[in-house]
Amino acid sequence: MEKCTEYYNVADIFGENVFNDTVMQERLPKKVYQKLKNTLREGRELDLETADVIAHEMKEWAIEKGATHYTHWFQPLTGVTAEKHDSFITAPKESGKVLMSFSGKELIKGEPDASSFPSGGLRATFEARGYTAWDCTSPAFVRQDAAGATLCIPTAFCSYTGEALDQKTPLLRSMEAVNDQALRLIRAFGNRTSKKVTTSVGPEQEYFIVDREKYLKRKDLIFTGRTLFGAMPPKGQEMDDHYFGSIRERIASYMRDVNKELWKLGVSAKTQHNEVAPAQHELAPIYASANIAVDHNQLVMETLKKVAGRHGLQCLLHEKPFAGVNGSGKHNNWSLITDDGINLLEPGVTPHENFQFLLVLTCILKAVDIHADLLRESAADVGNDHRLGANEAPPAIISVFLGEQLQDVLSQLISTGEATHSIKGSMLETGVKTLPDFMKDATDRNRTSPFAFTGNKFEFRMLGSQDSIAQPNVVLNTIVAEAFAEACDVLENANDFETALHDLIKKNATDHQRIVFNGNGYSEDWVREAEKRGLPNINSMVDAIPALNTEKAVKLFEKFGVFTKAELDSRVEIEYETYAKEINIEARAMIDIAGKQIVPAVIKYATALANSINAVKAACDADVSVQIGLLKEVSDLLSQTKTALSKLEEVTEQGIGIKEGRKQAVFYRDIVMSVMTELRAPVDKLEMIVDKEMWPMPSYGDLIFEV
Ligand code: ADP
Ligand code: MG
Repeated sequence: MEKCTEYYNVADIFGENVFNDTVMQERLPKKVYQKLKNTLREGRELDLETADVIAHEMKEWAIEKGATHYTHWFQPLTGVTAEKHDSFITAPKESGKVLMSFSGKELIKGEPDASSFPSGGLRATFEARGYTAWDCTSPAFVRQDAAGATLCIPTAFCSYTGEALDQKTPLLRSMEAVNDQALRLIRAFGNRTSKKVTTSVGPEQEYFIVDREKYLKRKDLIFTGRTLFGAMPPKGQEMDDHYFGSIRERIASYMRDVNKELWKLGVSAKTQHNEVAPAQHELAPIYASANIAVDHNQLVMETLKKVAGRHGLQCLLHEKPFAGVNGSGKHNNWSLITDDGINLLEPGVTPHENFQFLLVLTCILKAVDIHADLLRESAADVGNDHRLGANEAPPAIISVFLGEQLQDVLSQLISTGEATHSIKGSMLETGVKTLPDFMKDATDRNRTSPFAFTGNKFEFRMLGSQDSIAQPNVVLNTIVAEAFAEACDVLENANDFETALHDLIKKNATDHQRIVFNGNGYSEDWVREAEKRGLPNINSMVDAIPALNTEKAVKLFEKFGVFTKAELDSRVEIEYETYAKEINIEARAMIDIAGKQIVPAVIKYATALANSINAVKAACDADVSVQIGLLKEVSDLLSQTKTALSKLEEVTEQGIGIKEGRKQAVFYRDIVMSVMTELRAPVDKLEMIVDKEMWPMPSYGDLIFEV
């Protein structure tokens, strides 16, 4: 094991590979720096002259860090980041020496070959060209790895006619929308000093770590990110012994490296801990402005994977790598904070007197209630279908947890029209003299809620671990912007502000109380209760997708300039396509593994068993009925395997032939997936019988417990 020999001061390395504000202030001429700052503040475009100076300095700085190439780093609709690398060198001059150059034009705009990225039909009607445009609100950085050092420029990715082909563009648009409406709202309350309201986001990232040698022996993990076969280990996560010293050291050394890499990139990785499932861990950064948080979360996922390789480990980001073992998700902590530090979601000590907070809160209730389907959709990805509704992640039903204190304030408002008091936190007595007693929060935690108020932020807990966090934040920002706008329309035209405000809070709270649920989200009772309340319970991604382009959604997104109808339609197409494609890959991986690895191994085992029966019979007349029984069982399971395998080959072929997006996705979910389950069942039983030495891949136990 690699020993920790390197010690450093975090403050020294933090952000050392980021072209951040401090670097810009140091390196850019004062005038240029000021111009950039103004542009950023006012949300305008940068002029070419200024861009040229910035590009030059950025290049010089990057070259000092060893960079040879630059790339426009963007987030197409594949869920991961994409980049096309260009080198800084220009054609050699007469002297034969090359020059390193990077112009403002190259900084601001790039043109990657767009044809290989999903566009959901946008390219059929428009040109195939795609452009990347510098998102100057997210700083450039140098990434150093085995491939050398590269200057990465965070960009948005649009089609020739300006349709967003990525995650970033709508996110930036939604941040503007919620900024505009939140400013209107606080102005109505008399705030004249705050200039900007930003969405702050802190995503908690879960992941699994397994041994890389073992991983390489599992084709299912390699091709699909999850195990497609695998009997449950005799020991599950009910044994909380996920704390072996040796495991800890190997993982701790990995985490140390991950943190260092992230800190250099200016990602404020802060907490890390082991999760419920064996071999599962979590990393959370300090919250940042939504667009930066989105970039950083991509960097976190990239870094987790990359560094794992160096430690002989493999990081699994899939939502459900192991059946029967808790999967991974992401908690998206979200709040609205002004440029002068006011958190609009801070209730204060006496929330019943904080009318601005109560309005913000009830607007959010309204937004979540009206657009529960959209929020649910934003958390849908293929892997997450294994979690939502499976009693390990929040249920697929969207509801809001408020906690005792806020629930009480709203109840007072709804019943009497007046809230007169707030429940206070009480003293928590530790019962140990040397430990201080401390004030308990007025509200406990609820881990089963998909959308929970946690002190001064909402925590959206439905997200999948490998998904981009962009879309959930796009939806949150936009639906809240809408609710704020509607509230402002009332307040700005009211004769009596106080009365109008009071009525509005009461109306929002009353009309949307059905979305509030403080109980156990995992219980069967809740499913029935939610149905009575008329709340949607959408169990699969395929059924969640239509929410994206309903009339309601189109109206919402067009009103705030976040998506056009064409963009929404294209996203619907892409999602169906993605679903069908991913299940198709899983089915084909199963066919490959069952046909080439499992069936031959079982035949080998059966043959050895038959030979041993014959040998025993020849040597003496001992009773071989047990062995014969076993052989019969193996043969039966083998024939079930063969039958299911042929069926899977057949339906996969059929699936590929379906041309219409939704039809195809539905076919993969209803038909292909169920045949996959049929194939898995006998194989998992065989794994429990066949000699471990002969089984062609590491077991769940090997993967989860021997890291
Ligand atoms: P828990 O496990 O209790 O949910 P963690 O400390 O693991 O809490 O994660 C909390 C996350 O919430 C962190 O990423 C943190 O930066 C983020 N966070 C804290 N305050 C805010 C806020 N006002 N807005 C957005 N995110 C926040
Ligand atoms: Mg959390």
